[in-house]
Amino acid sequence: MSARELADKVAIVTGGSRGIGLAIAESLADAGATIAVIGRNGERAKQAAAALSGAGHQGYACDVADPFQVTDTVKAIQEGLGSVDILINNAGLTRDNLLMRMKDEEFDEVIATNLKGAFNFTRAVTRSMMKKRDGVILNITSVVGLIGNAGQTNYAASKAGMIGMTKSVAKELGSRGVRCNALAPGFIRTDMTAELSEDQIENLQSLIPLGRLGETDDISGVVRFLVSPAARYITGQVLAVDGGMVM
Ligand code: NAP
Repeated sequence: MSARELADKVAIVTGGSRGIGLAIAESLADAGATIAVIGRNGERAKQAAAALSGAGHQGYACDVADPFQVTDTVKAIQEGLGSVDILINNAGLTRDNLLMRMKDEEFDEVIATNLKGAFNFTRAVTRSMMKKRDGVILNITSVVGLIGNAGQTNYAASKAGMIGMTKSVAKELGSRGVRCNALAPGFIRTDMTAELSEDQIENLQSLIPLGRLGETDDISGVVRFLVSPAARYITGQVLAVDGGMVM
């Protein structure tokens, strides 16, 4: 990969204001892309965009679960930054509970953000990517979508759904020059995993052949590869980046 392999590309990173998404935004900006950082908290998204290397990045307040906000935001990005070349569907949240206690709202909110949110953004960029016959979509799913997890029925369903969506989009848009893949992180140190106890971390580490939780830049480097021209013959794949936890 060249140092600036994404020069002249415009990339949307949903949930790019914190955690894994922020590391992805930094990595794609380093590769020369202009980044649209999306978050619910617009101030945080704008600050994150302003701190990226290079000029021209923008932050946008947008709830990915709201199709109208997504349509308006993609329009604003296209007018402000140009047509979108790369979409990273990364925004996500957890509302964990045991199945018998899980409330409708906990199930619905997780599906609406993690799965419908990825659908909303994918649909909004598809027309222009098809027209250019060029585009890359990467869905950040989770190993939990592959193997399930007690207490995460809602989250596992949303992440497994993203995998089915990834393969369908890859089949539907491949002939139009658009690639779509999924990356499944294992346990990565971010706000999302900040509440794990020392005991839980020790237990998890014993299940990970590489013996440690992941850091955000363990993910962002792989994302940079998957959206680059070097990965031009890869589509419809799910790549676990998890220290070997799921194999
Ligand atoms: P995080 O630190 O909690 O950050 C979540 C990001 O998503 C924030 O930027 C947040 O924006 C944004 N977001 C949440 N709901 C949103 C919505 N409705 N609309 C727009 N933006 C929204 O999470 P993370 O750990 O970096 O996780 C990033 C992705 O990786 C998620 O999809 C997660 O499921 C997946 N993942 C994480 C792990 C892990 O171990 N951390 C493992 C596997 C998969 P605000 O700042 O505005 O709230």
